[in-house]
Amino acid sequence: MAEPVFPDELVGDGPATWDVTGELPPDLLRKLGSMGLLCAEVPARFGGLGVSSVDNGELTAHVGRLCSSLRSIMTSHGIAATAVRRFGDREQRRHYLGELTGGKLAAVGFSEPGAGSDLAAMTTRIEAQGEEVVVTGEKRWVTASRYADYLLVLGRHGDDAAAVMVPADAPGVTIEPVPQPMGCRAAGHARLVFDGVRLPVSTVLGGGRQSLSLLFTTALSYGRMSVAWGCAGIVRACLDAAATQAATREQSGKPLGEHQLVAGHLADLYVAEQTVTQVCRHASEQWDAGSPDQAVAAVLAKHVAATQAAQAAAKAMQVLASWGANDGHVVARAYRDTKLMEIIEGSNEISRLVLARHALDRVA
Ligand code: FAD
Repeated sequence: MAEPVFPDELVGDGPATWDVTGELPPDLLRKLGSMGLLCAEVPARFGGLGVSSVDNGELTAHVGRLCSSLRSIMTSHGIAATAVRRFGDREQRRHYLGELTGGKLAAVGFSEPGAGSDLAAMTTRIEAQGEEVVVTGEKRWVTASRYADYLLVLGRHGDDAAAVMVPADAPGVTIEPVPQPMGCRAAGHARLVFDGVRLPVSTVLGGGRQSLSLLFTTALSYGRMSVAWGCAGIVRACLDAAATQAATREQSGKPLGEHQLVAGHLADLYVAEQTVTQVCRHASEQWDAGSPDQAVAAVLAKHVAATQAAQAAAKAMQVLASWGANDGHVVARAYRDTKLMEIIEGSNEISRLVLARHALDRVA
């Protein structure tokens, strides 16, 4: 399968404006969705592009370089598609993957007021009642939910767990946008309330009764790699912006890049770009090979990419100085967006705990 080509002309110079207004054009999202670009790994028989994780990763980095809000929506949509592929039955795969490659948009709700880092504390309930299920609970900071047609909701299902595809316009669903997020401002984050939402049992992926940890580990592994690749794109944008500025602006009679302290920032940015690319590529290769090390490789990629991207954005801001210090500027956006990358899909602390556990298990 050829590498997917992203239509840059549809994005143009929109990201700076979208960051300031906090809105992405919904028609653009639907168009990209209908081109299969928001979940490019979905196989062709379900309407997708059927690309490898490595190729989807490079596509994600490309989008991350342009606009982290758009990349965030791509990540959520891709998580939903992955969950449908892994947990849906044949008819659900046919129906929902057709929708998700046909222009409908999806968001994914894990986090709750009492369940942030500790997803095992989730209390949302998906209760069977005859031919229906009833969804009751609250989710926080759900990316893309302001634009979504489907809200993939994880919750308790009897003694186990389930993931249910909730139509965003179902009676009993409330979507309250997060006011003025500090970063990824146009990614459509919202608080979701499910007040006894009644749905057919056919909306529960695979009939439910799955283990909660299997559900969120599968979804988060995809999400972690997607965020990591998005960070690779941010680092590339920061490297380009800083190198261009350092080559073209002179102070004290020579280009900024010839002042050694500025050159040091450029070297660090280059190291970050190379390191993040390698660690992302490694995780995607593990995913494509179906390796048992894939989950750890995804945590490693996300952790390295998020921390490197946050440092890279700070260095690029330092090189650009006042020339990058406007809302909407690619480096200003990177500075705010990358802080959030250190929090989502497993914070730095949670990632380090997982990696420490892996280190201990190797010698047990
Ligand atoms: P807390 O869990 O309260 O953690 C606070 C601090 O304590 C963090 O530094 C954390 O690392 C640390 N900490 C917590 N527990 C431990 C521990 N056991 N050991 C060591 N340190 C610990 N959620 C969704 O469901 N869907 C989405 O699409 C989504 N998108 C998001 C997008 C953005 C931009 C943001 C900011 C959040 C998003 N979230 C989403 C929520 C996100 O998943 C949570 O913010 C994240 O899991 C952390 O939870 P919390 O914010 O409640 O922090």
